[in-house]
Amino acid sequence: AAPGTLLLEATALRKTFGGLVAVNDIGFSVRAGEVVALIGPNGAGKSTTFNLVTGVARLTAGGVRLSGREVAGLPARAIARLGCARTFQHVKLVAGMSVLENVALGAHLRGSAGPVRGALGLDGPEEAALFAAAQAALDRVGLGSARDLPAGSLALGQQRIVEIARALCLGPSLLLLDEPAAGLRHREKQALGDLLRRLRQEGLGILLVEHDMDFVMALADRLVVMNFGAKLCEGAPASVRSNPAVVEAYLGS
Ligand code: ADP
Ligand code: MG
Repeated sequence: AAPGTLLLEATALRKTFGGLVAVNDIGFSVRAGEVVALIGPNGAGKSTTFNLVTGVARLTAGGVRLSGREVAGLPARAIARLGCARTFQHVKLVAGMSVLENVALGAHLRGSAGPVRGALGLDGPEEAALFAAAQAALDRVGLGSARDLPAGSLALGQQRIVEIARALCLGPSLLLLDEPAAGLRHREKQALGDLLRRLRQEGLGILLVEHDMDFVMALADRLVVMNFGAKLCEGAPASVRSNPAVVEAYLGS
């Protein structure tokens, strides 16, 4: 999509678990060529917000538009096929399978229209197309030469990038990353940041949840700060960092 094109519009998202309001009337947008970061204390509702946008959790109320199309209520696989890809807070690779197989299998499980048949149940041409897409995604993130290594043999930073390749397999316009820098070494964070800047440059819209403020402030174009399920404020990194309410709720100490 052309830079600035509206990719995601979340309106008055609400999610309750019994009496707990986990997400309380949150609204935000993500445009092509933009990195937006969702920050806030543990339990603020960030992962739940991701789950609402990607169809993993059911909205109590609110709307989600992807490139102008309402997707609230659609199953997660349908939303993935409409261009919204994600990674999860914890690495979900199969350690003993090769990097390439992990990327192909993950893309298949997410994108498949029918019931999950498993990669081995695909017919020849379908499987070949899947592996070609997986190889292209690995090349795109710079890990093409690691394709035959067991995924479990890679460093954590590379495993995170394999997960991003898996998300890229379906050719998304929007990428949601839940704590991609968590637990990474300094050099790995730099490599991840470089990759995300390149993907932004290619026109992707990126929404990420992240606790590492140095990483976020250096990368994000805009921050949305959540606290107790609600939006505390939104703005450019410099304005958020100097907002007294944000300092008190999250950045202080
Ligand atoms: P964050 O990602 O910002 O740390 P979460 O979205 O994981 O926060 O959680 C927000 C709140 O919703 C927390 O109080 C959490 O305990 C609660 N919550 C999340 N998922 C569920 C669930 N499936 N059932 C009940 N409560 C949940
Ligand atoms: Mg979370």
